[in-house]
Amino acid sequence: MHPHNRKKLDDRVIRAAEAALAAQRYVSPVDVLVGIGWLDPGALARWPRGQVAYLEEVVQTNLPRISEAMKLFRSWATAKELSPSETHYVARTPSRQTLRFSESGNPTIEKLYRTHWISGELSERKREHLVERASRAPELLVIQPLNDTWKCHRCGGTGDLLIMESPGPACLRCAGLDDLEFLSAGMRCSRAGSRRKAPGTPWWYTSARRGAAMNERSAG
Ligand SMILES: [Zn+2]
Repeated sequence: MHPHNRKKLDDRVIRAAEAALAAQRYVSPVDVLVGIGWLDPGALARWPRGQVAYLEEVVQTNLPRISEAMKLFRSWATAKELSPSETHYVARTPSRQTLRFSESGNPTIEKLYRTHWISGELSERKREHLVERASRAPELLVIQPLNDTWKCHRCGGTGDLLIMESPGPACLRCAGLDDLEFLSAGMRCSRAGSRRKAPGTPWWYTSARRGAAMNERSAG
């Protein structure tokens, strides 16, 4: 890369990284890619839903340039004495697979992408809390439709509850969630992340993390 272009890229990377660090006390490679305008937030949102095979596919530049930016980011983070912390990126689908970043799938590259850099000004406890929160598996949204005219895209059946997958609604049996405990209306706000019913909407929602459902099953 021409030294002048490298300097320009370096400025953009640092500006994006500084902004993310100021806002959330840590900064990730994904924050930088979004911050420099290479990664569209809409495309990023499709990734955990299983609609994007790997993240680099939707980054709007070539691989050598991404790699250059990531190198600049890491040397900035190291110079700032931020603490590296590996974070789990898990799909927001019933299968919960680990999300893939790179075209190659190379484990070293994947690990670099998963590494968040945390502000050294935070206490050990706060740092642990941040890491725990970032690694938490995303919620699954289970929907209770008002009628049973919907069709499971896998088995063609229907049911009282469904989960949205990228090809369409699926029944809980096909999604492997048929043992999920159903929260009654009175309990729907009891768990963090549960959604309140929005007035006038024909649905109401309850959500449960797969991990929580599995714990309940093994406890019972
Ligand atoms: Zn089904």
